[in-house]
Amino acid sequence: MKPEEKGAKVTRWHSITTRQALVTFVIALLLSAGTGVFQLVSDAQVVRAETREDMERLLNLVEASAAEAAFQLNPDLANQVVEGLYNYRSVRYVSLRDDFGRVLMEKGEASSEQAGILLQALFGDVTHFQKSLDYSVSRTPEPLPVGELRLVLSTASIGESYVQRGRRLFLLGIVEALSIAVLVVLVFHFLITRPLLSIYRAIAAVSLKQPGRWPRPDTPHSRRDELGRLVRELDNLMQAFQKGLDQRDALHQISTIDGLTGIPNRRFFDDFLEKCWYQAADQDQPLSLIFIDIDYFKPFNDNYGHAVGDDCLRSVAGALSGALTRPTDIVARYGGEEFVCVLPGTDLDGARAVAQRIRHDVNALAIPHSHSEAAPYVTVSMGVASAVPGHNEVDMIRLLEIADHRLYLAKDQGRNRCVWHD
Ligand code: GH3
Ligand code: MG
Ligand code: MG
Repeated sequence: MKPEEKGAKVTRWHSITTRQALVTFVIALLLSAGTGVFQLVSDAQVVRAETREDMERLLNLVEASAAEAAFQLNPDLANQVVEGLYNYRSVRYVSLRDDFGRVLMEKGEASSEQAGILLQALFGDVTHFQKSLDYSVSRTPEPLPVGELRLVLSTASIGESYVQRGRRLFLLGIVEALSIAVLVVLVFHFLITRPLLSIYRAIAAVSLKQPGRWPRPDTPHSRRDELGRLVRELDNLMQAFQKGLDQRDALHQISTIDGLTGIPNRRFFDDFLEKCWYQAADQDQPLSLIFIDIDYFKPFNDNYGHAVGDDCLRSVAGALSGALTRPTDIVARYGGEEFVCVLPGTDLDGARAVAQRIRHDVNALAIPHSHSEAAPYVTVSMGVASAVPGHNEVDMIRLLEIADHRLYLAKDQGRNRCVWHD
């Protein structure tokens, strides 16, 4: 798998906010659907009970008049009773029969009604009502059965308000779920996503050279919570990282700087020369070396003591550094009282000029040396060599040998001089 690119943008679909919104919306929707269904089921029970009660009350109310109409076989009265009942809401069929079951008066449609499966299932069994009619005649002690009232209700009509209520609940559920999702997402965004993004941006801006100076995000409202702890731990990590880098740099410094003189040491010189050599080869440029050795330094040490010898080494190193003017030039302590200059982009003539300046500057230090056979002060001998890598079959090792050999020639020719040819 391809590693995630640093700073790659999080797409809308992959953002925590979007997923949070979707999950919250679905959960809220399921919850409101659950409560909605529960509410509708209990509503249906209430509607059924109310319908039964209503019809019983209604039938009781007209019982006396209906019984009288059936007993007297009075069509006007029968018609009044049937009309009255038929006008009642949800009633779709009314009949008044005599005790032989013959219809005295009827109104409406008794055949089965087309209604939805759900409404049929919920209210199909509370649509048919009957009431036996008895009539008391003074001659008989017991009331006589005189007929029957039948009522059929419309399922669709019973369910009408119920369906409306269901629709309202459904819409309300969606609005509720959406509002909860938006609220949760807003709270989540301000409490978590935004601070998280600022932490992410701060991490993305970390400089690998200066991790300790990372733009530590300040999230005031989450200073004490998990995000605050995350930032603190990240900060600790960055500071530890920075400390490691500082230690590495210090070690590098120690390992490449000469402790006595403060100029680069032999290790640094080896690496530097190699780099310069390949760079010069790439650019087809000359590269020059000057080997420098203090004259009669052993007698100097023997007579003035090691401490003064060290001071002398420091002074000479200072003079050498001062004699180099180009920022690309370096002088390193090669070992003991020997130094070496690397002069990239400098040919033999240029190197010779630098060597003369060095000789002049060291002499100008005027460090007394009464045991030198070259001068009454400290002097240096130098061997200068120059090459363009890839030309004249001179390689890096050979260039070093040439410079060293010329230094030997300078010593041989009486010291306090520089030799640039064999
Ligand atoms: P020549 O003119 O032929 O170079 O003679 P020389 O005496 O300088 O030659 P040699 O290389 O024999 O002497 C080098 C001396 O440098 C030996 C040692 O006493 C001294 N030396 C080397 N390193 C140090 C150092 O770190 N401190 C001090 N004080 N002296 C050092
Ligand atoms: Mg020496
Ligand atoms: Mg010497």
